[in-house]
Amino acid sequence: RFSTAAETDELITPPFQIRCTQHLINGQFVDAASGKTFPAYDPRTGDVIARVAEGDHEDIDRAVSAARKAFDEGPWPKMTPYERSRMMLRFADLVEKHSDELAALETWNSGKPYEQAANVELPMFVRLFHYYAGWADKIHGLTVQADGNYHAQTLHEPIGVAGQIIPWNFPLFLFAWKVGPALACGNTVVVKSAEQTPLTALLAAELFHEAGLPPGVLNVVSGYGPSAGSALASHLDVDKIAFTGSTGTGKIIYELAAKSNLKPVTLELGGKSPFIVCEDADVDKAVELAHSALFFNQGQCCCAGSRTYVQERVYDEFLEKAKAIALKRVVGDPFKKGVEQGPQIDSEQFEKILKYIKSGIESNATLECGGERIGSRGFFVQPTVFSNVEDNMLIAKDEIFGPVQTILKFKNTNEVIKRANTTRYGLAAGVFTNELDTANTLMRGLRAGTVWINCFNVFDAAIPFGGYKMSGVGREKGIYGLQNYLQVKAVVTPLNNPAW
Ligand code: NAD
Repeated sequence: RFSTAAETDELITPPFQIRCTQHLINGQFVDAASGKTFPAYDPRTGDVIARVAEGDHEDIDRAVSAARKAFDEGPWPKMTPYERSRMMLRFADLVEKHSDELAALETWNSGKPYEQAANVELPMFVRLFHYYAGWADKIHGLTVQADGNYHAQTLHEPIGVAGQIIPWNFPLFLFAWKVGPALACGNTVVVKSAEQTPLTALLAAELFHEAGLPPGVLNVVSGYGPSAGSALASHLDVDKIAFTGSTGTGKIIYELAAKSNLKPVTLELGGKSPFIVCEDADVDKAVELAHSALFFNQGQCCCAGSRTYVQERVYDEFLEKAKAIALKRVVGDPFKKGVEQGPQIDSEQFEKILKYIKSGIESNATLECGGERIGSRGFFVQPTVFSNVEDNMLIAKDEIFGPVQTILKFKNTNEVIKRANTTRYGLAAGVFTNELDTANTLMRGLRAGTVWINCFNVFDAAIPFGGYKMSGVGREKGIYGLQNYLQVKAVVTPLNNPAW
């Protein structure tokens, strides 16, 4: 039997209303140029909770020209970095003040547990803005020792108008990853939120304007990918594009950027990250960590530890405990206290996950638990565990993006490195061992942008994140995240008095 939240009927959402549904362009909330709207849903029920302005190329044009003007004519890039920093800090304070409302709206529109949104994601959002506000007045170039009688220096300048396309799995959190560094460096921004989750980006944009951000510096357009998203990626007046989402869409964005104006691109894409449990590990701890590495956020994480490799000596014990903990996972209304897993984002993802589960069964992996939908409304999926999974099965190769743990057996370290690397992805990897040598060997051998050793899903504002191979291009967060939003100008002057 799966746990449900029936025992804890307490609802933890504060009452709230949806205030912002129009685009935010040039400091004003405006309807779509076409007058069209599209529905935003509650994944608990599939009910429509709001209708939101549906952007297309005309709205993107309006937003880009506002951002262009705000960049070219200022004051944003011409303000002192300290002033920019102060404004970002004011915004972070407002987010803290409104964090109940933002978290509730995030849960309502995405289905993620309210406690996760309020206690994990909102504080990280604020921390990220504090972090990048701190950088704003510490960005500077170098003096360069050149041959001959020249004085040379570099200026680190903002790129210009940044286009940013955001997915639905962490709508606010990924907004912060993108908007924070772009603004700190003095760029202006056009955000295209995901069509599944347009609401919190609009509320955050409203708070930015309350914090005093000049019009045009941050614009948010809601709408679909092939219309609004591709208009942004191919816009000639956009100087840089940053995208998080699927690898397939990432390829399209790269192509649109190249074919239009060769704007630089950062991509944060899919993954099939290994989580490796070695035989010396404390099995109870490994089970817990491997569980949260996969099931966090309904399994909808680009870096989910979605291939659990367990060394043969501890495999049986691990399996039994992994199944037990999955059966105990509390699935239910994400607004209820103690709920660990809410619904999947929408019917498309829900159907896709159920199809993968079917494919796992057909390919003769052993279904240890789960495998079905919960209830008849909304998009709830039972926490599912497969054992006896082989590397060549679809469930071990594709990004399922759902609460489906696949457990594979391995014999030794060199073998697991090879198998873990046999994927087109390279976003993250988890290693669980007490042996320093084993940890070092795995850490160096795994081809992934992040290796978490004896931990997982640690997202510090200062730690870079990004993918090897088809998991992405570039790094976000930390000092590395600034480089995406800066360009370097070399300045050279002759030294006419060589004595000095
Ligand atoms: P997606 O990549 O299609 O969408 C992400 C964003 O890109 C959205 O804002 C969307 O509107 C936009 N987009 C879509 N098509 C576009 C286009 N042609 N031009 C410009 N922008 C476009 O992802 P999805 O369809 O919502 O989900 C599909 C799969 O992607 C999921 O099953 C999952 O495997 C993966 N995914 C990964 C991440 C991640 O964090 N890496 C996030 C969400 C989804």
